[in-house]
Amino acid sequence: MTKIILKKGRDESLRRFHPWVFSGAVAQIVGQPSEGDVVGVFAHDGSFLAYGHYQIGSIAVRILSFAGEDVLGPDFWVNMISKALKVRQATGLANGLETNCFRLVHGEGDGLPGLIIDWYDGVCVMQAHSVGMFRSKGAICEALKSVFGERLKAVYDKSSGTAPFKAGLDLVDGYLYKAEGFSDDEQVVLENGNKFFVNWTEGQKTGFFLDQRENRALVGRYSSGRNVLNLFCYTGGFSVYALRGGALRVDSVDSSKKAVEMVSRNMSLNGYGSDLHEDICADAIDFLRQVPEDKYDLMIVDPPAFAKHRGALNNALRAYQRLNAAAISKVAPGGLVFTFSCSQVVDKEAFALAVFSAAAQTGRSVRILDRLNQPSDHSVNIYHPEGEYLKGLLLYVE
Ligand code: SAH
Repeated sequence: MTKIILKKGRDESLRRFHPWVFSGAVAQIVGQPSEGDVVGVFAHDGSFLAYGHYQIGSIAVRILSFAGEDVLGPDFWVNMISKALKVRQATGLANGLETNCFRLVHGEGDGLPGLIIDWYDGVCVMQAHSVGMFRSKGAICEALKSVFGERLKAVYDKSSGTAPFKAGLDLVDGYLYKAEGFSDDEQVVLENGNKFFVNWTEGQKTGFFLDQRENRALVGRYSSGRNVLNLFCYTGGFSVYALRGGALRVDSVDSSKKAVEMVSRNMSLNGYGSDLHEDICADAIDFLRQVPEDKYDLMIVDPPAFAKHRGALNNALRAYQRLNAAAISKVAPGGLVFTFSCSQVVDKEAFALAVFSAAAQTGRSVRILDRLNQPSDHSVNIYHPEGEYLKGLLLYVE
């Protein structure tokens, strides 16, 4: 096995269980690893540190195990997926009757850097973000079969948009496994008792934004008697909860036509007629511009990540400020704004500062009622704070 030997003093983060080896920390590579190979990582004095997937790029090794070699034996994937499932069982997510979709594996949060697996009532949709995970697809699929047995309906690999292309691998999405008789690319899942169509082949990400489950429930609790505007609605998660919570009316806006069509289907699926909602395909900022000032007294602002890397941070902060100023200025007096950022590089403090600047720009009196986060199945490894990405604020605007 290839040995990666670190520069003197560059072993500290690994000794604190941070799961990445940056290429700048590498002193020597003993062997000729291919991208995605499992390599051993050693300190400058030759002491063993960890095993991980090798890749060319700023992160040279993504750590899979800080323990001995046997951990990477045949049971490795079954052990890791079983552990991830156990956490979802401990929180009640994996055995609930009201919810049958959740994130099963959240990368570093579950000790598997570069791997996402979402569970949709028996269908596992996986996305590999590293070459190592992409090359491990077959083993991961076998492990899922072994962990879930007959409960597993299908495993769909959706890595073409996430795996690094320079690897020159054949990137085509498709099923790695289908149980006998399973034929659909879409199915209905339950989230807190609400029904949603999820289409993993055509939808964004793995088909559904599972990370907003708890925040949607909160919106539901605040919606009674309110006129709701759901901006960046995707397939209408927040919209369905708002109506379930007693909203008078919900308007949902997204720039994707496919998403907006899905909102209508999800509304009907939950028994809501067109008298209660309108689904609008438009740019969110353009839409906000023509909104009358007292029309909506609850707004949800959940844009896509404005900053995908550190270089885009300043532009992203300005975009968050502009968007939030537009929303805060238009919400009716006594109204609520649920505002989010899913950009990993924008931390809680920076986001709060952007929203503070937005509020100041409008001159309105704004209180923070609650601080919002990602849910427990999007787990954060305490040694890898970079895993925290979704943050939000619940604002009360006088
Ligand atoms: N709130 C959603 C997830 C939002 S994901 C949920 O709970 O499921 C972000 C969404 O923003 C995507 O659906 C994307 O199509 C949409 N989007 C991106 N740019 C937009 C824009 N300028 N105006 C409106 N929608 C936009």
